[in-house]
Amino acid sequence: MNSRELIKEYIKFFKSKGHTRISSAPLIPENDPTVLFTTAGMHPLVPYLLGEKHPAGKRLVDLQICVRTDDIDEVGDATHHTFFEMLGNWSLGDYWKKESLSWSWEFVTKHLGLDPKRIWVSCFSGDKDAPRDEESAKIWEEIGVAKERIVLLPKKDNWWGPAGESGPCGPDSEIYFDTTDSPHSDNCIPSDGCPRFVEIWNNVFLQYRKTKTGKFVALKQKNVDTGMGVDRTTAVLQGLDDDYKVKDLWGKIISAIETSLETSYKENKKAIRIIADHTRASVFIAAEGVYPSNKQRGYILRRLIRRALRYSRILGKNEPFLSKIAEAVIDTFAKDYPYLVEQRGQIINKISEEEERFAKTISRGLKEIEKIDKLDARSAFLLYESYGFPLELTQEIAKEKGQRINKKQFEEEFDKHKNLSRTSAAGMFKGGLVDHSEEVTKLHTATHLLHAALRKILGTKVSQKGSNITSDRLRFDFSYDHKLSDDQLTQVEDLVNEQIKKDLKVTLKIENYEQAQRQGALAFFKERYGEKVKVYTVGNPKGNYFSKEICAGPHVSSTGEIGRVRILKQEKVGSDVIRIYATNKSD
Ligand code: ATP
Ligand code: MG
Repeated sequence: MNSRELIKEYIKFFKSKGHTRISSAPLIPENDPTVLFTTAGMHPLVPYLLGEKHPAGKRLVDLQICVRTDDIDEVGDATHHTFFEMLGNWSLGDYWKKESLSWSWEFVTKHLGLDPKRIWVSCFSGDKDAPRDEESAKIWEEIGVAKERIVLLPKKDNWWGPAGESGPCGPDSEIYFDTTDSPHSDNCIPSDGCPRFVEIWNNVFLQYRKTKTGKFVALKQKNVDTGMGVDRTTAVLQGLDDDYKVKDLWGKIISAIETSLETSYKENKKAIRIIADHTRASVFIAAEGVYPSNKQRGYILRRLIRRALRYSRILGKNEPFLSKIAEAVIDTFAKDYPYLVEQRGQIINKISEEEERFAKTISRGLKEIEKIDKLDARSAFLLYESYGFPLELTQEIAKEKGQRINKKQFEEEFDKHKNLSRTSAAGMFKGGLVDHSEEVTKLHTATHLLHAALRKILGTKVSQKGSNITSDRLRFDFSYDHKLSDDQLTQVEDLVNEQIKKDLKVTLKIENYEQAQRQGALAFFKERYGEKVKVYTVGNPKGNYFSKEICAGPHVSSTGEIGRVRILKQEKVGSDVIRIYATNKSD
């Protein structure tokens, strides 16, 4: 049975039990500000679960497209996707646990033909909010499930909802398939830690409503809400241990990735799964009118695209290719979701444009990360702000280095930044908006060298008054009361070029502002990120460095990259200010 056949069977089965098919709601919830995306089939049904009459009746069945951003970190395993299709059936104040569980059993054993001995079920074990779900456990026993395959699990496993902070919720009963038929041991039962069991279906019994103040009150109308993942169930039906091996869902997408990246799924499962999953989700999100951006849904889309790209970089792919994968996604779902085909051009453009934007910033961001010895919330934020580096990419790199980034702290930085960007709208700060091209970066580091050289030759009364860099030249204004002699100019130029010849390392450290100043770091702007600042050092940061400045960056990794610097001319632009133009281009 392939995935489309499963969907057909499911709908047919529940129609035969008096259900009416309703159509999938959009991925973006229409009247629910509590979540960004539809996360389950029940989502669009919330008003009806709360008692409103549904025009299609009390028994409903559908196929709903879902996005679960919370599962993004699980993606890479065999069974979690950010976007997936979910089958579901509902009772709106009609049938209850007995019918629901018996029909589920009948469907999986008779219609899907799964071996009953490999089916496990779980029920809610009870806590202070709600009692143990004895009723469901008893029904399973009556149906014929062996007692040893009925497990009782706590809230974290067997409680559903609410989707936002308040709304319908209740105990659930999950159906698992044992992907192996070897004997089980007591320490491997269905729950998070044991991958041999795949959860395919969840029967949720919405008996409660969680209020905004955190209370659980009994719902007047008791509802059944079930959800079955199409990818997982099809994989189980086909005897596969991996969703991505389901041909009609993933075949085209995986082969497109294998071809583009010149690698095989077998060799690079995790990365290929992430690229496949994130592209699939991106296509469906883009099709709902979302553009990659730094806000809300746009940010999710951006994160998905950029994370897919990071994994493709790991596999050595640096040229644009995602549009080909997106095409494969559209082709896969063309028949069932014709709007993807209608919007093909737009979807592809959004993804390709974001890919281009990211290609420019990612190489710079990755270089920058190499220079930071400790990744934390602050540095993660600065990377985000300066390079558009998504938090979770930095988190992943941090994890590889055995470091941790506190998400809450990151968000605090983010909030602070919102205040700052208001100031930046007034034209006072330019942190993240500066040109990050390679040429500008080189001249930016050259500016630091020039500043330090001027202070060494002319004395410490020299300090920066302004700077302006284009890809062709730097312009540097500093306090000094008269023009330099030709001899002085030559000395400054030579000193700068000596440092370039030495190919000194440029390192970045995030430090307290005061501490940085105490260590002699120069600061041109008043600090802009609260107490912590980025400090760039040219030369040995602990020893005899050549330059140390507080600065937003970006900079080259070592001075050799700059190339020979020539001073083009000097001007006196104010009573106390001298301006120097310099370039690294040969004439
Ligand atoms: P899990 O514990 O495996 O993450 P869940 O408890 O979050 O699953 P439910 O919220 O009960 O799952 O969702 C109902 C069904 O939807 C699941 O039984 C499963 O078949 C499917 N499902 C849930 N999350 C995902 C996902 N991230 N990718 C694919 N299918 C999923
Ligand atoms: Mg889950």
